[in-house]
Amino acid sequence: MRIVLDPGHGGKKVGASYYGLHEKDVVLDIALKVHDKFIEKQDVWIALTRMSDIHVSLRNRCIMANALMATHFISLHCNACRSHKVSGAEIFHYKGSKRGRQLAELFEPYVRKFLDQPFRGIKESDRLYVLKHTEMPAILIEIGFIDHKETNELLRKEEVRQHIADLIVEALNELIKKKI
Ligand SMILES: [Zn+2]
Repeated sequence: MRIVLDPGHGGKKVGASYYGLHEKDVVLDIALKVHDKFIEKQDVWIALTRMSDIHVSLRNRCIMANALMATHFISLHCNACRSHKVSGAEIFHYKGSKRGRQLAELFEPYVRKFLDQPFRGIKESDRLYVLKHTEMPAILIEIGFIDHKETNELLRKEEVRQHIADLIVEALNELIKKKI
């Protein structure tokens, strides 16, 4: 099993940014924590599309995952909404992808526990570049709404980001067990 974890944005592309907190930093920190904690075995490894605060194009993220012949692609993002009142995580997979759906369903119980907020559902999209141009089952997790005051305060906390990373590691271990 070859997992590619994709922290969104980076470098000049900060992603959503509210109250001085950038999406790019939140998702990188969580991805690095997952990378630290995940135990690689001979035929199970994890690679990140970026390990530092650099910009990697969407195209190059997909080229990387395809070239590595990844078995699963997991992209991490934070959401934002004009009203600043919406909260909760959601998971996207590519429209019509059964294996993408399966992967999203495996992650759902873990994602639900990220921030103890109502889960917004598993959604499909044919617009998200990294879901469209990766050749393996892929999901994009919107961890929470960074513009939502309470969520923003939670995502600043080291222990909250560690908690999210721990849940992602648990989900990955479940994935290895189930071999979907
Ligand atoms: Zn994003």
